[in-house]
Amino acid sequence: DKPKILVTGGAGYIGSHAVLALEAAGYPVVILDSLEYGHAELAQQHLKAELIQGKTTDRPLLDQIFQTHDIGAVMHFAAYIAVGESVEKPAEYYHNNVYGTLTLLEAMLAADVKQFVFSSTCAIYGPPKTVPIPEDHPKNPISPYASSKLMVEEMLKDFSAAYGLNSVVFRYFNAAGADPEGRLGEDHQPETHLIPLVLQAALGRRENIAMFGTDYDTPDGTCIRDYIHVADLASAHVLGVEYLMQGGDTTFINLGNGNGFSVREVIETARQVTGEEILAVERDRRPGDPPRLIGSSDQARNILGWEPQYPDLESIIAHAWQWHLYRHGRASA
Ligand code: UDP
Repeated sequence: DKPKILVTGGAGYIGSHAVLALEAAGYPVVILDSLEYGHAELAQQHLKAELIQGKTTDRPLLDQIFQTHDIGAVMHFAAYIAVGESVEKPAEYYHNNVYGTLTLLEAMLAADVKQFVFSSTCAIYGPPKTVPIPEDHPKNPISPYASSKLMVEEMLKDFSAAYGLNSVVFRYFNAAGADPEGRLGEDHQPETHLIPLVLQAALGRRENIAMFGTDYDTPDGTCIRDYIHVADLASAHVLGVEYLMQGGDTTFINLGNGNGFSVREVIETARQVTGEEILAVERDRRPGDPPRLIGSSDQARNILGWEPQYPDLESIIAHAWQWHLYRHGRASA
């Protein structure tokens, strides 16, 4: 029998896709999710896992979970993720993301659970000095959100050395797309990410899509990002936990495609996939946006044997579109 995995944030976008992948690979799962942003109904409809509502800052609840379930490893997705909000409310971000993770790690030590998969972000690198970005690139977070993730990375190094609590830390580039079978997808409130906003415009749920900056030093003037299919992120997490189970040491791994796509390319591909016109309007640059963010995925391939199944923008957008149609329908059908 495969060990049971505790997945925090398993009712959220990336976490729920990871649970799908874990369950498909035969792992029993328990989800801990505060449901501040997660979607309980989707998790309950499509995942077998038991869903426990609560926060990682709640040590008695964590102790109870570890006492009731024979947990072999933890995947930790639960976090606040809005960069702009983190600037306004740093206390909430450090409390939830740093103190919450520390509390979870302490509960793991008490329960003698020593395998941890952590969701970090390419935002810890700050504006890149080299592209594609390797894992040993200098770290220069420019938001409390990014700082909160880097602080946890530092804790994990120390916990590994002192306590033998080993981690796979995944630094995500731009997660996008949806379950290829249409069960789950991206549904943030409020939505700030490019691909779901473009698809809202395709559905007629918003008038247009703003292109934040069209005068960058890139081939078409718009920013380039490394969009990675959420199902490929999910498969990496299964490989990550298996690496730890086989005795792997703490390691830090980028999860990107190694491919970059511009804002204009995203909009053009969405037009092709949806058959809708999608009005794009030119707007000022958004503060803090680097022109090009692309991750080197060599480590993921070499250490985990990971290979993305859906590296092309068409699949990413087509799967996201299938999900949007199912979830929201057309505005004027
Ligand atoms: N973007 C845009 N219009 C939008 C939302 C985003 O032009 O309405 C751009 C944004 O400036 C960035 C890229 O799309 O260059 C991806 O942004 P997103 O917020 O999806 O992810 P980020 O790279 O900020 O994590």
